[in-house]
Amino acid sequence: TPNLFQTVNPTTGEKGTAYQGHGVDQALSIAADVHRSQAAWRRMGVKERAPLMKNAAKVIRDNSSRYAKLMTEEMGKPVTDGLAELEKCASCCEYFAEASEGFLKPKPLDVSIGYAGPGAPPKAFATFNPLGVILAVMPWNFPFWQVIRFAAPHLMAGNGGVLKHASNVPGCALALEEIFGLAGFPVDLFRTVLLSSKDLRPLIEDPHIAAVTLTGSVAAGKSVAAIAGAVMKKGVYELGGSDGYIVLEDADPVAAARICARGRMVNGGQSCIAAKRFVVVESVRQAFEGALVEEMKRFEMGDPNDPKTLLGPMESVHSRDQIASQVKQSLRNGAQLLLGGEAPKRAGAWFPATILSNVLPGQAAHDEELFGPVAAVISAKDEQDAIRIVNASEFGLGSAVITADTARGERIAAEELDAGAAFVNQNVRSDPRLPFGGVKNSGYGREVSEFGIREFCNIKTVFIE
Ligand code: NDP
Repeated sequence: TPNLFQTVNPTTGEKGTAYQGHGVDQALSIAADVHRSQAAWRRMGVKERAPLMKNAAKVIRDNSSRYAKLMTEEMGKPVTDGLAELEKCASCCEYFAEASEGFLKPKPLDVSIGYAGPGAPPKAFATFNPLGVILAVMPWNFPFWQVIRFAAPHLMAGNGGVLKHASNVPGCALALEEIFGLAGFPVDLFRTVLLSSKDLRPLIEDPHIAAVTLTGSVAAGKSVAAIAGAVMKKGVYELGGSDGYIVLEDADPVAAARICARGRMVNGGQSCIAAKRFVVVESVRQAFEGALVEEMKRFEMGDPNDPKTLLGPMESVHSRDQIASQVKQSLRNGAQLLLGGEAPKRAGAWFPATILSNVLPGQAAHDEELFGPVAAVISAKDEQDAIRIVNASEFGLGSAVITADTARGERIAAEELDAGAAFVNQNVRSDPRLPFGGVKNSGYGREVSEFGIREFCNIKTVFIE
C-alpha cells in the first residue's frame, strides 16, 4: 500500500510497526473537526484550561516508559535520554498551566502622552486572543519535546493543533494525540495527521488552518513558508543551526572541553542547538583538543535500550551515510582526524563520536550543519577573529562563549554574537521560560516563554473613548 508509514528500527535496521496513513481528504476533514472544537475552546478561560494542561503532564509521566520505548524503536533514542525528554515535556505543560494566565492578561496601554484633554484620557489595552488552528510540522529528533513545546503554550492560549509529524515517527505522532485525549481536552482539539510532506500543500492552504509552525531543515522551512506566505498565514520557523562555541585563551581547557562535548553530543549530535563548531583561540587549542578527545571518548556506542548508554544509533542509515560523507569530504580537504571517523560494519545506523581538527572553509565540517556526533575544531587568532568566524555562518540559532572572565563573556554574548541565543560557560539548551528561535537561515519567530505564546495570538488593540 503506498499510504503506509513503515517504521524502521535504527538499532537493528529491521522493520517495525507500519501505520495506515490518512491521505489528503481525511487530513482536511480532521482540520475541519479541530476547527469546530477550537471554536468552543477559545471561549473557555485560561484558568479553566490550566487543569487540563496539568493532566497532560500527569499522562506523560504515567506513560513515560511506553513513550520512551517508542522513541527508541522509531528513531534510536537511548532510553535514559527519552525519559529525560518526557520529564521535560511534563514540566513544560506544568509551566504553561501556571504561567499562561499572566502572559495572556490584557495589557493596559498608556495613551496619556500627547493627550490634550479635556477629562481623563481614553482607555486602551491590548488583548491576546487565539488565532485559531495551528498546523505543526515537526521533526523526529525530539519526537515528544518538539511537539509539546508547541502545544503547551498554544493550547493554553486558546488555539487548536493539527500535528503533521516526521514520517519516521508515526507511533510517537499518535501518542501525542493520545496524551491530550487522555488528559481530558475537548474531543478533536489536538489531532495528528499521518501525511507525507509531499501532500502537505492543501492542508497549509486549507481555510480551517490559521497559521503554521515548522521545526526541521532549511529546505522544508522555505518550502512551507512560501506556501503559507502566498495565503497570508503567519508562521514560526525553527530550522537548522551550526552553533559556534568560542573558547577564549583564558578558559580552563578541561572544563571547556566538558561543556563542548556535552553540547555536541546532545541526542547523539542530532539537535538543532547541538554545539557544532568549536572556535578555539590558538594558544589554548592543543590543550583543549587533548581534553576534548577524553570527553568525547566517554560517548561510547551502545544499545539504546540499556539505561547506561550515552550514544545510540543515528536516526536512519540515510543520516548516517550523510555524516560519513561529510567527514570524508572534510578529511580529503585537509581536516585532521582526532577520534572516530569510521562507521562500524554492522546493521543499523551507527556512527561513532568523532573529532575533526584543522577545520577550514571549503570543508563540509566548516560550511555545513553536521547533524550527528562529529565535533569540528576551528582555530582562531584571538577574540575578534573567533567572533568573526562564529558569525560567518548562514545559521544563527545558538552560540556560546567559554572564558574565565564572565564579564567579558557577557559582553560578547550580549553584543557580538549574531544568534537567537548566546550562553556563557554553559552549553545552549532550550527551556520553557526562555525564548527559543533563530535568525538568518535558522528561521524566524520564537517558541516558548512569554514571547512564544504570543506568536499565535491576535494582539488586538481595544480603544474606548
Ligand atoms: P526535514 O526538515 O526533512 O523534516 C522535518 C519535518 O518537515 C518533517 O515532518 C518532514 O516531513 C517535513 N518536511 C520535509 N520536507 C518538507 C517539505 N518540502 N514541505 C513540507 N514539509 C516538509 O528533516 P530531515 O529529517 O530530513 O533532516 C534533514 C536535516 O534537517 C537535518 O540534517 C538537519 O539539518 C535538519 N533538521 C533540523 C531539526 C531541528 O531541530 N531544527 C530537526 C530535524 C532536522 P516528512 O518526514 O514527511 O518528510
